[in-house]
Amino acid sequence: MTDTTPPVRATLDQDVIDAWQVALAEYKRKGGWVYAIATACALASVAWWIATRQRLAMTGLVAGLGIGAIYDARARQHLRCPHCGQPPIYGGRRQDVLTMQWCPHCYYWLRKPW
Ligand SMILES: [Zn+2]
Repeated sequence: MTDTTPPVRATLDQDVIDAWQVALAEYKRKGGWVYAIATACALASVAWWIATRQRLAMTGLVAGLGIGAIYDARARQHLRCPHCGQPPIYGGRRQDVLTMQWCPHCYYWLRKPW
């Protein structure tokens, strides 16, 4: 079984699918201002570096990218399956939780399969 092939016993529950969509929308809404600040910080530091050529200016770029990456990693860890409450990813595998079609723990669909 691959990650993209759902198990035969996957359960379709519209309430779980709706709750997952609400959780994804909340994740995107909360992250909007963090990404705006991180992007502004990175762009300002690049402009500062272009104007002054000081190496110190690049710390803003690193900070901006770091803030965005750390926030995103933490926010994705808090996305839980509405049915079983576990993160809908396999342990130890690198997967994008935002694109998961079904929960590998309880086998409930997180998105409509068709
Ligand atoms: Zn689940």
